[in-house]
Amino acid sequence: MRYAFALAKRDMVVRTDGQPFTPDDLEKLKHLADSHLAEKENDFCAIELKPDTQLPPEYGFKTIREAFALLDGEDNYRLARARALLSWHSGHRFCARCGSPLTWAEGVSAKKCEKCDSVLFPRIEPCMIVLVSKGDEILLARHAQRNSDVYSCLAGFIEVGESAEHAVAREIFEETGIHVKNIRYRGSQSWPFPDQLMLAFTAEYESGEIKVQEDEIANAGWFRREDCPATPKPGSIAYKLIHNEI
Ligand SMILES: [Zn+2]
Repeated sequence: MRYAFALAKRDMVVRTDGQPFTPDDLEKLKHLADSHLAEKENDFCAIELKPDTQLPPEYGFKTIREAFALLDGEDNYRLARARALLSWHSGHRFCARCGSPLTWAEGVSAKKCEKCDSVLFPRIEPCMIVLVSKGDEILLARHAQRNSDVYSCLAGFIEVGESAEHAVAREIFEETGIHVKNIRYRGSQSWPFPDQLMLAFTAEYESGEIKVQEDEIANAGWFRREDCPATPKPGSIAYKLIHNEI
């Protein structure tokens, strides 16, 4: 394998001398791992470190999000895939149909149940994220429970039976009381914390006054791009939407 990742929830291990982290480094840390996997077709191996692992001095942590901001294309894909597969592995150890322990399937990143022959593939949760504009202003909101230190685009899970566009219009109205038009798809990003696929949209204000859903949103408002409060750091698709990069 050419690529190696040692992960700990939202962090990844890097070498403190600035050199790339290699499969040899991974071997040295394997005794600290809870689980591991390898994917021949994507040329990587990965481990999940035990909680609160103390690293040897030649290694340190950096957030996966920071890495996303620096990597592109295939490198980003491998890292996101490693993160998502390790999370899926730890959360899917038993068959949903009969309750028997699952094992890795041969030659494919899936799990199988020996007892009832079920094969389970990793799941993706589709989510939408949207930047709403009104003339020169954009709609940003501060979440009540998570990431409450920044203002960001509105986002949410796409519910059963919905199209992505339906979810965009519903979520904006539920969280802020605003109706939108001209919903346009702009791009996507794997967000493996643990298994989201973020579908990014822009939309234009149509009608309504801001009235936030208080259990979800602490505050929301219209801001000029050059006069925004603290917003998400690079590495997320929210950053790209807000900074007009997609
Ligand atoms: Zn089964």
